[in-house]
Amino acid sequence: MAQMIRQSLVKFDAPLCETIIDTPQPQGAEVLVKIERCGLCHSDLHIQDGYADLGGGKKLDTTRGMTLPFTLGHEIAGIVDAVGPDAPNDLVGKKFAVFPWIGCGKCRDCLAGDENLCGRNQYLGVSRDGGFATHVLVPDAKYLLDYGNLPVNMAATLMCSGATAYGALKRLVDRPRQRNILLIGLGGVGMMGLAFAQAMFKQPIAVADLNPAARDSALQNGASVAYDPSETDIVKRILKETDGGFDGVIDFAGNDKSMNFAMGALARGGKIVVSGLMGGNFSLPMVQWIYKRMTIEGFMTGTLDEAKELMALARDGKVKPTPMKEEPMKDVQSWINELRAGKVVGRIMLKN
Ligand SMILES: [Zn+2]
Ligand SMILES: [Zn+2]
Repeated sequence: MAQMIRQSLVKFDAPLCETIIDTPQPQGAEVLVKIERCGLCHSDLHIQDGYADLGGGKKLDTTRGMTLPFTLGHEIAGIVDAVGPDAPNDLVGKKFAVFPWIGCGKCRDCLAGDENLCGRNQYLGVSRDGGFATHVLVPDAKYLLDYGNLPVNMAATLMCSGATAYGALKRLVDRPRQRNILLIGLGGVGMMGLAFAQAMFKQPIAVADLNPAARDSALQNGASVAYDPSETDIVKRILKETDGGFDGVIDFAGNDKSMNFAMGALARGGKIVVSGLMGGNFSLPMVQWIYKRMTIEGFMTGTLDEAKELMALARDGKVKPTPMKEEPMKDVQSWINELRAGKVVGRIMLKN
């Protein structure tokens, strides 16, 4: 039997290490996908830590229900290697992006198509073994998306950074005020957000990031202006230049500093969508919330339907490729270290 090589989490808060097992045989409707690429995402780092930072020294344990060794990685594209007896046989040899935000399939959220809200989720690389490996077992062929002629790296990242960016931006569509949009945090998701924003909105897209290289990259990729949140009196300058601030802000970083900056740059009647998970604690004077008539919405991942919508947009050629860098799968831990140190611009794509 062929073997499956995994870069496994064998202990929380410790480096990944290679483990080898027999390649699993797909059962029932399961599909075995041979992995071509898997993107490295910030959330992989949080899962490796085993906790999320709640601020003030408090931590949320995220190890519940996980058994070790465990395979991280949820931005997967690959080729169908084998199918279970209840899955379509003609899939073998075909290339797909794998939708990872899989629910239990039974609760009211799953039945309503909101698998991303499922409390008993089966997310690949989060609750079930994911993509830092040679193979991944997918519970059903319906989670495989045909990516047509798109580059394989783009196909893989569309499933996480793409689904998150697209879903977050969708929450700014149909707002009463739409003069301008600001995207905060230009990691993999933020860069993808910039690409989708230009396909989804007519207005110029502004960005903000502490990293000058990320700001340069965003300006080269279509951002109208790039702010440095650490600049003295930056909020004052933004309010002046934008005639009162931004109507829509997406915080792709998600920490107290980025949220304070988002609050400062937000116009009256505006909305902030928070989808970054850097963590910490954000506090807001109640009167300010009310005086600003503002809305804050939290958003994470996206639905299978949204993934199909964004795949259609991308296949139409409406989404510009974002910065990516291919690296060998076996080097994943050193790239995790680089990402933790804030030294990565764009997406690291691990390749088998
Ligand atoms: Zn991700
Ligand atoms: Zn469910």
